[in-house]
Amino acid sequence: MKAGFLIAALAAATPIASSAQDATQPEIRAEQVAPGVHVLYGSGGNIGVSAGPDGVFLIDDQYAVMTPKISEALAKLAPEPPRFVLNTHWHGDHTGGNENLAAKGSLIVAHDNVRRRMSADQFSRFFDRTTPASPGKALPVVTFNDGVSFFLNGDEIRGAHVAHAHTDGDVFIQFRSANVLHTGDLVFAGRYPFIDLDSGGSVDGVIAAVDRMLALADDSTRIIPGHGDVTDKAGLAAYREMLATASGRVRELVKAGKSIEEVLAAQPNADYDERLSWDFITSERFARILYRDATESHPVR
Ligand SMILES: [Zn+2]
Repeated sequence: MKAGFLIAALAAATPIASSAQDATQPEIRAEQVAPGVHVLYGSGGNIGVSAGPDGVFLIDDQYAVMTPKISEALAKLAPEPPRFVLNTHWHGDHTGGNENLAAKGSLIVAHDNVRRRMSADQFSRFFDRTTPASPGKALPVVTFNDGVSFFLNGDEIRGAHVAHAHTDGDVFIQFRSANVLHTGDLVFAGRYPFIDLDSGGSVDGVIAAVDRMLALADDSTRIIPGHGDVTDKAGLAAYREMLATASGRVRELVKAGKSIEEVLAAQPNADYDERLSWDFITSERFARILYRDATESHPVR
């Protein structure tokens, strides 16, 4: 597990030079999940790819420093740079390559709130950290509200917005013919998720988003999570169950008048902690997110 990738994303103060290969960065591992549809694992959010006669369509682009390795991996799938990049949300480990790819001719597409958040400094109370606004050339040039469809490579690739979930600008993507879903950070596979309350996220919003994806999935759907390995409908259902159970336990403790210290001491999700706690979202951080979510008011969904 790459330590602190999202902390790095939130802290990314300056665009990182990407003209040279950076040997300190992990290699890109590509895996085909369906004919013409691939996932690229590297550093940051998992990248989804459609590659075929109409060119390359990319979902997310990790960090700026990864662009050369991503481009190298894509060159094995298709000769041209991506025509389109769809950002699943604004976080820097999913949008960090925007500027580099835009310079190669890619059209960057995202939800309205992605451009809005990337256009201004963003303060995270959770990390007590400010992410500066992105350079103009990194911003999405096409934005949408409810959803967007791309008709490419024999498929209909649908991005669907879900309100107030991981952030307030999330989309998940459905490849209708290939039967693949890319969840963005609505799903962290095999580990506790980060839910960015400071960016308009909410626990119930993530659960509602997962329910929408479950309704679209069948037993052969391949599901690319924002982080972690490709999963399936059963994995998605188990993740939903964990979210509902873990947040429900913390809400009960809040209802009983427990303080955050008492909730942490009670270890209400000890049965999940061993398997799902990791260096970025530890058991304690996850409990703090659930506690804050249960005690603070939320934007109306
Ligand atoms: Zn994220």
